[in-house]
Amino acid sequence: MSPIISDYHMHTPLCGHAKGDPQMYAQHAVTTGLREIGFTDHAPLFTHRDPTISMDHSQLPVYHHMIESVRSEFADKLTVRVGIEADYIPGYEERTKKMLAEYPYDYVIGSVHFMEKWGFDDPIQMKEWSARDVNEVYREYHRLLRKSALSRLFDILGHVDLVKKFNFRPTIDITSEIEENARVFKRTGVVIEINSSGLRKPAQEIYPSLHDLKIYQAKGVPITFGSDAHEPTDVGRDFDKSLELARAAGYTEYVQFEGRKIARTIKW
Ligand code: ZN
Ligand code: FE
Ligand code: FE
Ligand code: ZN
Repeated sequence: MSPIISDYHMHTPLCGHAKGDPQMYAQHAVTTGLREIGFTDHAPLFTHRDPTISMDHSQLPVYHHMIESVRSEFADKLTVRVGIEADYIPGYEERTKKMLAEYPYDYVIGSVHFMEKWGFDDPIQMKEWSARDVNEVYREYHRLLRKSALSRLFDILGHVDLVKKFNFRPTIDITSEIEENARVFKRTGVVIEINSSGLRKPAQEIYPSLHDLKIYQAKGVPITFGSDAHEPTDVGRDFDKSLELARAAGYTEYVQFEGRKIARTIKW
């Protein structure tokens, strides 16, 4: 059995672009031998009201109710955590904080998907990449990641090199950005995730890359594992490769959350 027993990143149909009942995600987790899962659907956005990007604020009670039912249904088979994936958008910190305080969470994933209005990882907005300086996009992305850590709104930062998703690559060495990230992540105590969904995208790589992960490991930034499942069969997907990557970077353990605190460290 794989030493990775937790998948901390998966969605529900409430975000408008994921398929399958949460029960099916949980069932797939059981089938693949996981012992713990956490739902992290896209939190309501303050900047957009788009039912194909995230749930609406009015759906939060439905979301929590849904996860509660999965939790009781699978009580003897699986630990079910309640998380959420919230966007980091500068200027909306207070509103995000208020929204996250409305319900109890085991952990909150903070993700950078937007640069101002531009959803740089949205296939519909991919054209915008050709109008931009790729190196500058990378620098801006990493600045936003650091700001998201410093906001202290989040427990885990999601897919910390998502900017590579469509395989637009910088022509300059951005190692100094990653080193600066590592210092800030360590100082703020935030955890990062190893997100296998990049293997299903044009980048064809787990987030983050081995190059970056080595730098985070050297600083002592803890990790979780996530599939970013948008359909049931994605749960736990490619975790063998995620584990291999974590090992190659020098990691020997990952963490589990409960009530927005690191509750346990699992060694392999
Ligand atoms: Zn999504
Ligand atoms: Fe995301
Ligand atoms: Fe996600
Ligand atoms: Zn995600």
